[in-house]
Amino acid sequence: MINYDFPPYRPPNEASSALIRVSHGCPWNRCLFCTMYKTVKFQPRSLEEIKKDIDTAVHIFPEARSVFIADSDSLVMKDSEKIICYIKSRFPHAERITSYARAKTLMRLGAERLGKFHEAGLTRVHVGLESGDATTLSFLKKGATPQEMIAGGKAARQAGLELSIYVLIGAGGKDRLTEHAIGSAFVCNGINPDFIRLRTLIVQHGSLLEEKMKAGQYRPTSPLQKLTEVKLFLEHLDVQDCELVSDHHSNTIWVDNTIVYGGVNGILPAEKNHMLEVLNQTLQRLFHAREEILDATILYERGVISSL
Ligand code: SF4
Repeated sequence: MINYDFPPYRPPNEASSALIRVSHGCPWNRCLFCTMYKTVKFQPRSLEEIKKDIDTAVHIFPEARSVFIADSDSLVMKDSEKIICYIKSRFPHAERITSYARAKTLMRLGAERLGKFHEAGLTRVHVGLESGDATTLSFLKKGATPQEMIAGGKAARQAGLELSIYVLIGAGGKDRLTEHAIGSAFVCNGINPDFIRLRTLIVQHGSLLEEKMKAGQYRPTSPLQKLTEVKLFLEHLDVQDCELVSDHHSNTIWVDNTIVYGGVNGILPAEKNHMLEVLNQTLQRLFHAREEILDATILYERGVISSL
């Protein structure tokens, strides 16, 4: 049996990456909507253990052209530079070495230190913005303000790292829909990331957000409201050479068992009008639908889908 510590989560676009687990869990672990590491105590792994896994990964992922460092927020590790250097030496043909990172961690590390990580071989960081609305971020216990999100994102960009930002559609619920959409666009505009990835919030069973929802403190949005939010967000985006990506099934909307929306994808600003047109047409379709409109939230609630 192979003695190797597989990380439980990775972004969808890292599906063919070699996965290297340098820590267990999330050092923050307080976001209301997140259940990923709720049962895992944050624990950095030793450099020796990590190097052994990197040596093993070379054989498990012989074709890998990219390497993903896990779990969440792994750049807090004191040995980050050494780890990245070792990955680079063992995967010399890797075109991409990436990691999850909290914006606040990026802000604390600063552009100079992040620049050292970049020199060592790190190429991209995946950052969960979730929302650019201060009230929503605070409610969700994200642990960072919009200003800190911008500072962290800018530090990564100044260090030469590619930046992939995740925006959580529905994060503000019905009550903060407008502020969440416009605030998120404002933060993205302040950073100008390379990628903006859309995820739609599904309130998971056992999450702290589910408790808030049951107590009436969070009111989830309907499929129509979610699309309206995406449109508002996109209308307020003013970024250059940025790819908007909807690469998650949580964005899907069905009418009468037919997928009518899988998300918008395109380069900004060149394809903005086309994406807005897709949203307008889908909104019209939903507005006039007589059949039942379903999204991932509804299917999850009904037990039709279980894994996110
Ligand atoms: S969303 Fe990210 S930062 Fe928040 S608890 Fe989950 S893993 Fe940690």
